[in-house]
Amino acid sequence: MDQGDWRINASCREEEPDQLFVRGAEQRKAKLVCLGCPVRTECLAEALDNRIEFGVWGGMTERERRALLRRRPDVTSWHELLDTARQEHHVDVRVG
Ligand code: SF4
Repeated sequence: MDQGDWRINASCREEEPDQLFVRGAEQRKAKLVCLGCPVRTECLAEALDNRIEFGVWGGMTERERRALLRRRPDVTSWHELLDTARQEHHVDVRVG
């Protein structure tokens, strides 16, 4: 996975900066921006690897990320894990 400056392709780039750092029900709206984002995987990996505590990243709220981190304490690199999962998914899509 390219760990370079993926932010230039972020769907939320044109949004108000505060939009992804909302709370409660507003987070559901914020997550919608992430749905079609081309750098969603990179964004989520960045938040998980760096234990970023606030805001919606990669379509997940801080609460969802905390739960995921608790479930998978064995993961040392989310970049690696998500990149592998993405590559395998691409293979599956081609084969299927
Ligand atoms: S996944 Fe969401 S928060 Fe991350 S860059 Fe894309 S739109 Fe922004």
